Amino acid sequence: MKHLKLFTLAVAALAVCLSVSAKPKVRIIATGGTIAGVSATSASSAYTAGQVGIQTLIDAVPQMLFLADVSGEQLVNIGSQDMNDEVWLKLAKRVNVLLNEEGYDAVVITHGTDTMEETAYFLNLTVKSDKPVILAGSMRPSTAISADGPANLYNAVAAAVSPNVKGMGVLCCMNNQLLDAKTVIKTHTIDCDTFEGGPSGIIGYVYNGEAHILQTPNNKHTVNSVFDVTQMDKLPKVGIVYGYANASPLPMQAFVDAKFDGIVLAGVGDGNFYKDVFDVAVKAQNQGIQIVRSSRCPTGPTCLNSEVDDAKYHFVAALDLNPQKARVLLMLALTQTHDWQEIQKFFMEY
Ligand code: ASP
Repeated sequence: MKHLKLFTLAVAALAVCLSVSAKPKVRIIATGGTIAGVSATSASSAYTAGQVGIQTLIDAVPQMLFLADVSGEQLVNIGSQDMNDEVWLKLAKRVNVLLNEEGYDAVVITHGTDTMEETAYFLNLTVKSDKPVILAGSMRPSTAISADGPANLYNAVAAAVSPNVKGMGVLCCMNNQLLDAKTVIKTHTIDCDTFEGGPSGIIGYVYNGEAHILQTPNNKHTVNSVFDVTQMDKLPKVGIVYGYANASPLPMQAFVDAKFDGIVLAGVGDGNFYKDVFDVAVKAQNQGIQIVRSSRCPTGPTCLNSEVDDAKYHFVAALDLNPQKARVLLMLALTQTHDWQEIQKFFMEY
């Protein structure tokens, strides 16, 4: 009888051990942002992003430890307005190592919201794994009344361990919603409900610790992407020029003089140039600086060969990408080719 009791206890202990080790391993990479921000008082709207560290973020959400074997690391601690190529390269390489060499089942990245969409799209094109990679941030600092960071982080971990999130590419998890890296946009400067999924809408939502998927992204990403930054320590230089009435050609000319590799136009309407800017763009393209036309309009594609004769000038149309994401794709495209038609193909596929 005594032996039976001991045996039962041993089996129970083993079951506990197995259930602990059977939890998916999720690594959180912290990069800063408002989710790690601190304000002088809980009611103050003045705060500094990127102040608290990864362990404080994890400790604030003990509930996620029931879902996953969660651990974390701090990559940088910055407001995402200071995000740059160097951090993107470090981040992409680290995510690849965690998922492909260190046995993690998913990666969650805490990130500021200002440039979250750009980082998500960069990773969508450079992560070589179909395991979940999810960015989460917040609009209110960690010290605020009703801070939104802990719920966003919990939801991101919940989504990261959902089997139905595998193969979706990189997602953002904000305000209970899952958004696709290609289409996600920050639309409001201060509201918690700021991220939208563009014309195709959200990918899904997270409710009660479970991810519900509504649709699958249909562009190429992650394991199907040709872009590989593992051996790179810098990226081609691409700038963005904003379009407006009576626009000055000086910013475009400055990028040309600084020998940038590419320039994205955030054009008016369907990616149109002011005439003086157009003249500089034609010269730049003839000098081998790739021009990509995108639009300052928040919705709608920038169409190929519409009001601008792209075929004649060898410009590329950004199609569904906004200027900041067109910049990301152009930088990566220029690591592969300088042929404008090949680059246009990338814009059709990714
Ligand atoms: N400026 C902040 C950042 O992007 C805003 C935020 O995280 O919400 O880091």
